[in-house]
Amino acid sequence: MDNRFDLIVIGAGPGGYVAAIKAAKAGLKAAVVENRRVGGTCLNRGCIPAKAMIHASTLYREAVEGQRFGLFAEEAAYDYEEILKYKNETIDSLVGGIEQLLVANGVSVIPGTGTLLAPEDGLNRVRVKADGEDGSGCSAESLLCARHVILATGSKPAGIPVPGLDLPHVVDSDGLFALEDAPTSLLIIGGGVIGVEFATVFANLGTEVTILEALPKLLDNFDKEISQNLKMILKKRGVDAHLNALVKECVAADEGVCVIFEEKGKEQEISAEYVLVAAGRTPVTDGLFDCGEAIQMNGRFVAVDEHFRTSMPGVYAIGDLTGGIQLAHAASAHGIRAVEEILAEDAANGAGPAFAQDIDVIPAGVYTDPEIAQVGITEAQAKEQGIEVKTGKFIMSANGKSLITKEERGFIKVVADAQSGRILGAQMMCARATDMIGEFTTAIVNGLTVEEMLRGIRPHPTYNEGIAEALEDVFGEPLHTAPRRRP
Ligand code: FAD
Ligand code: NAD
Repeated sequence: MDNRFDLIVIGAGPGGYVAAIKAAKAGLKAAVVENRRVGGTCLNRGCIPAKAMIHASTLYREAVEGQRFGLFAEEAAYDYEEILKYKNETIDSLVGGIEQLLVANGVSVIPGTGTLLAPEDGLNRVRVKADGEDGSGCSAESLLCARHVILATGSKPAGIPVPGLDLPHVVDSDGLFALEDAPTSLLIIGGGVIGVEFATVFANLGTEVTILEALPKLLDNFDKEISQNLKMILKKRGVDAHLNALVKECVAADEGVCVIFEEKGKEQEISAEYVLVAAGRTPVTDGLFDCGEAIQMNGRFVAVDEHFRTSMPGVYAIGDLTGGIQLAHAASAHGIRAVEEILAEDAANGAGPAFAQDIDVIPAGVYTDPEIAQVGITEAQAKEQGIEVKTGKFIMSANGKSLITKEERGFIKVVADAQSGRILGAQMMCARATDMIGEFTTAIVNGLTVEEMLRGIRPHPTYNEGIAEALEDVFGEPLHTAPRRRP
């Protein structure tokens, strides 16, 4: 193998593999080093398996509750082994697709752990250790070099300083995916995105679920009304969520694990068959550097400037490794931007391609039921920033499609600049919110106004019509709501 490349990417998650393909499509000789399976956390241990389990478990709950639609499936049952099989087949087919894409684009996929070495003769160097996975037990090593390196090694579940987390029935998200049976009871430490999505899966399957969240609300980064509604909806599904709950210790119990925590100044304990720790994710830097002090860190994360450049010339870092927003589409957008920066740097006249995406506007979705999504700023954030805004809100109980599917509990909120009418943000909690939020992302990055967004006709009956109604409410009144004042 020729060991010299234009670009070496370490880590083939949604950040790294996208960067490698983008670079290869632009004519760079690109390699990607990966020590597990391509697709990273997202495809193998994150977005895709979680959403497959949400889909299967929601179908099961809907079957059980089918009487609302005149369907009687009281005998509905699930086979957890089959759910895992469906989840794994979904992962395999996506991972296989990415492998083929990399090969088809001429990217060299190099298995093993990549370590960044100090540069030599003006070139950056990466040592790849094959970890003996070929069965020989030997650790083959190779040395690759390139002018540019992108670090994209992602993140792993973070631990918390609580005694007893090494007990056998205490797992992180990786460990929960690996269980062969659905737990009879599950206590989740952390009411963030992972916590509420797994609570949705297992509550659907009949597991007794408890959430302990240290902060005063679930999904702390989301709109307050969304967090409050989610707590109520989860409660209706049997999920017991404790807020302001300070976890003190986990101890072994007959049922599995007993968690001792403090809530409103009172010590309490709850036992569950399994405990899931979902308290954030920490960057993967194990064995990544053998280049002295050359790389500056930002706490545990790799420090980068606005061009994704690290402190080492020619070395970039993207995605979860750099902190900030830890989302798959953010990592991919970083990967594309880093390659655009490299192309600009390499271009003889200094002018590379125009940047394809606005990376300052990142939408977020949570796959609870109903779904949650938001982009841009909330009304409260606008107030904090001293921006005068007008807001519009539509309750989905007046939306035809939501009534058909009995998903009318939900709303869409729009935040617009009071003077110009430009869209600044949107928050949704309704069916297909994660599919619909893109409409607002497009509006924000293109500076569209409420009026401009209303020019396009939305088909009927769709959840999408709710967006038009929320937009109409910003400066006027939605058609499908009673007038505030009688004419
Ligand atoms: P990763 O996906 O973590 O990929 C890094 C890759 O680098 C890995 O394959 C790793 O094996 C490899 N690697 C590490 N070190 C080395 C080394 N030294 N040498 C070679 N290879 C190395 N995000 C969303 O946007 N939507 C979701 O619905 C969503 N759901 C999630 C659900 C769960 C349960 C979890 C845990 C995460 C979820 N995320 C979701 C977050 C998303 O998975 C991450 O933000 C995303 O995967 C980050 O991409 P990345 O490329 O930065 O890193
Ligand atoms: P998170 O930051 O979303 O939530 C962690 C929660 O744990 C916080 O609310 C925090 O207050 C709480 N916490 C921390 N220590 C605690 C303690 N000792 N006791 C009780 N609560 C405690 O992190 P996460 O849920 O682990 O998810 C990690 C990342 O994965 C997120 O950044 C998210 O972006 C990404 N993710 C995204 C999706 C999605 O896009 N749908 C799904 C899953 C994960």
